[in-house]
Amino acid sequence: MKIICIGRNYADHAKELNNDVPTQPVIFMKPKSALLLPKKPLYYPEFTDNLHYECELVVKICKNGKYIQEKFAHKYYNAVSVGIDFTARDLQKKLKDQGLPWELSKAFDASAAVGKFKELTPEMDINNLKFELSRNGEVLQSGHTKDMIFSINSIIEYVSQYITINIGDLIFTGTPAGVGAVNVYDTFIGTLEGEELLKVDIR
Ligand code: MG
Repeated sequence: MKIICIGRNYADHAKELNNDVPTQPVIFMKPKSALLLPKKPLYYPEFTDNLHYECELVVKICKNGKYIQEKFAHKYYNAVSVGIDFTARDLQKKLKDQGLPWELSKAFDASAAVGKFKELTPEMDINNLKFELSRNGEVLQSGHTKDMIFSINSIIEYVSQYITINIGDLIFTGTPAGVGAVNVYDTFIGTLEGEELLKVDIR
C-alpha cells in the first residue's frame, strides 16, 4: 500500500504558512513504513526541533483504478477516518528553501497516524464532514470537508492520471488552519463528526 498526501488543500492553512493557494492539487507520498502502528506512541524524532501536527481526513481506497473520472471516483473508496500528517517543519523549510523535495520532513517512520476507519453509509456526504484535533482537552484544529479547495473525487481523478490507486491505499486530504508544534507527553485526539477515532501519545 501507499499513502498519497495532498498539500495546501484548505485556503486558510495555505495562508498561515505563507503559501499561494494552488490551482492544481499539491501531491506527495509517504511509504508504508511511515504508518504509526495502532496504540504505539510517536517518539519525537531526533532530526527535528519543530515537529508539527496536521490533522487531516483520511480516505481508504477499496478498488484498483487508473484514469478515474471524477463522477465515478466515489466507487473507489468506502471508509474514512482522521489522521495526523506529522511534519518536521524546520527540515521541510530547509528543503523547500533549497528547492528540494520535502520527503524526508514528511515521510519518515511513524509520520502518518491514522485512526479507526468508519465505513461510509449512503447517509454520509463525504463533502460535508466535520473533523477535529484536540490536545490534552483543548481543540487545536477544526476542519470541514466542504472547505477543501479540491474535493476528494477531484483529487482521485487528478492523482489517477499519473499513479494507479490500489486497494488499501490511503489518501491524506490536507489540513485546515491551526497547525502547530508537538511536545513530548502530548496526547492528541482526533474526532470525525464528534466520534473519537484517533489517539496518539507523544514520547
Ligand atoms: Mg498535510
